Amino acid sequence: MNICAIIVAAGNSHRFKNTIPKQFLKYENDLLINQSLKKISSLSSIKRVTLVVNKDAYQKYKNYIFKNKKIKIIYGGKERKDSVYIGLKSINKKKYTHVLIHDGARPFVSIKLIKKIIFNLKKNDAVVPYINPNETIVYNNKIIPRKNILLAQTPQGFKLSKVYYLFRKNIKNTITDEASLFIKNNLPLKKIQGEYSNKKITNPDDILKDSKYGIGYDIHKLEKGYNLYLGGLKIPYKLGTVGHSDGDPVLHALVDSLLGANKLGDIGTLFPNTKKYKKKRSVFFLKEILKILIKNNIKIINIDINIIIQKPNLSKFKILIANNIAKICGLDSSKVSVKAKTTDRVGTIGNEKAVACEVITSVKN
Ligand code: ZN
Repeated sequence: MNICAIIVAAGNSHRFKNTIPKQFLKYENDLLINQSLKKISSLSSIKRVTLVVNKDAYQKYKNYIFKNKKIKIIYGGKERKDSVYIGLKSINKKKYTHVLIHDGARPFVSIKLIKKIIFNLKKNDAVVPYINPNETIVYNNKIIPRKNILLAQTPQGFKLSKVYYLFRKNIKNTITDEASLFIKNNLPLKKIQGEYSNKKITNPDDILKDSKYGIGYDIHKLEKGYNLYLGGLKIPYKLGTVGHSDGDPVLHALVDSLLGANKLGDIGTLFPNTKKYKKKRSVFFLKEILKILIKNNIKIINIDINIIIQKPNLSKFKILIANNIAKICGLDSSKVSVKAKTTDRVGTIGNEKAVACEVITSVKN
């Protein structure tokens, strides 16, 4: 067998509300398309890889596309089938006997699956990985057993002359994938088990974005004649925090952690000790930051908080504080953890002269 591969990445992502075509989005610091390119071209049994791209997108991203001697880049057509056909036409039919056709929007394919397809091509003209759906399928008000439903994945492997012939004959018809050509023409097709991780990126939510983390810390003096605000809640106690604002160390540390995760500076720079912010409730600061996050499409994943205070005992307030922060941030309460600890009477905090707080948050965008 002389095997080559076609990776189709010419789509302009109608279903993907993003100005960047999905194949050129970044995932773990690399273009999505590069993930398939690297894996497929790394196999010694695959001698040539044709990447079919959209011309405009290619001009924009060409410097970031993975390159090696095996990879050839060509421009695709209007629809997926046109791009595959252009790819098939470009292959030297005398040199290659088999072809793998893969969607660039499936970056998570494993080398193991690719090898399994190649192995099965020895005895079959068409090899297609399928999975059964995880979801319950309802059709005409009846539940269809999941095992009766097959979802086709790529790469799909073919004898080159066969698939090329079928494409030439059917190019005017609807072709959703190559396997459908074999099925419609009653030609034998080897079904193999696909991979659930080999997902097709169709919606923005399909992309697992990189997580970022931020840390925040704050400490305030405790004195008589002030209120004790922790996480936006007024805690009944004889001492309160001294501060330019309401002195809420939990919200200040939280704000700093959110700013840190997104490299947006620190609370002191954004809300300096000026008249404007004097006696401000700290919830205001948090809400201002949340507005920035929403504008930049940044989602908070979770928040972990340590409140360090000798007295009062916060055991009954921890849940209330967590719920209050979750509510302000628009999060499920399971995403906010509040822990409280003393310093065992050691130091300034142990002597009930101060309260400190540390916060770690994780965000995605
Ligand atoms: Zn503070």
